[in-house]
Amino acid sequence: MIDYRSDTVTKPTKGMLDAMFSAKVGDDVFGEDETVNTLERKLADMFGMEDAMFCPSGTMSNQIAIKCFTQPLDEVITDQTSHVYKYEGGGIMFNSGASVKLLNGERGIITTSLIESEINPTDFHYPKSSLVVIENTVNRGGGACYKLDDIEPIYHLCKLKNLKLHLDGARIFNALQTTKDEAIDYGQYFDGISVCLSKGLGAPVGSVFLASKKTINYARRVRKVFGGGMRQAGFLAAAGIYALENNIERLKQDHLHAEVIAESLQKLSFVKNIMPVETNIVIMELNEQKNIDEFVNELKEQGILCGTFGKQMVRFVTHLDINSKDVDFTLNAINKFEH
Ligand SMILES: *Cc1c(COP(=O)(O)O)cnc(C)c1O
Repeated sequence: MIDYRSDTVTKPTKGMLDAMFSAKVGDDVFGEDETVNTLERKLADMFGMEDAMFCPSGTMSNQIAIKCFTQPLDEVITDQTSHVYKYEGGGIMFNSGASVKLLNGERGIITTSLIESEINPTDFHYPKSSLVVIENTVNRGGGACYKLDDIEPIYHLCKLKNLKLHLDGARIFNALQTTKDEAIDYGQYFDGISVCLSKGLGAPVGSVFLASKKTINYARRVRKVFGGGMRQAGFLAAAGIYALENNIERLKQDHLHAEVIAESLQKLSFVKNIMPVETNIVIMELNEQKNIDEFVNELKEQGILCGTFGKQMVRFVTHLDINSKDVDFTLNAINKFEH
């Protein structure tokens, strides 16, 4: 099967497995796993942040960030499509006791004017606006990217209004590949950044939360409470280090693959709309004449898996385990549909 359902389906390569098996480990709850420490140092330095903490999942990284940056009765401002709101099981309310103000961004990209109009006045009738969360790339926005130039004014607004700013950077390396911004320039703008190792980078597990030393100290308490303190986690961190050293540059291949797949899909008579492809995600809408389950099944019969993504919406995600031959096979399969 050629699996486009998500970039989380990748399996570790031989090189990555070798790195994992030969990792030097210790008890990370005691702070004694040197491979975890190396991964944390490496990512903090890459993004110009003071400190970092390895987490089992991107969801946990984000939820810990939100816990660190809010108090109960506060409000988080984010786009309506954002992962922290839509795909983390309502965790913001459960873990942090905070409410959420949803914005209607353009493909999930929010701006200072959208944010500013939803910052509550200082008045005890309202929840206290205390945190803005943005996503880069935006998953539901078809992998849309913020440039640093888009982020800078958001940073200034947050500073002015005394809000924290968190980046859900599950696919930040895809964004950097497209925007040509530098990771090192990100740190100055954010109070927190979460980076996923198990998406496009191809590690089996893991995410890292980046922030100030003070925030990370508190975040370690929160991670413990969430049950995310891991022992010999260096075996997993080694996969992350390997991914950072070997799998960033190649993301452009995934982006190229997404682009040609989108071009081919565009020609199908029953495709109503395809979101512009900026990174490794293709989201398209089928017109009413085409039954979406039928379409997904027809591809599946040819050995190709894609995901449904809401009413008449289909998502393809390219990744490390899809090579050019797989893409050629896919283009052929798409061409077999009536045009
Ligand atoms: C995948 C993803 C996450 C984290 O997901 P986990 O499955 O918990 O690792 C967070 N944000 C976005 C935008 C994602 O796509």
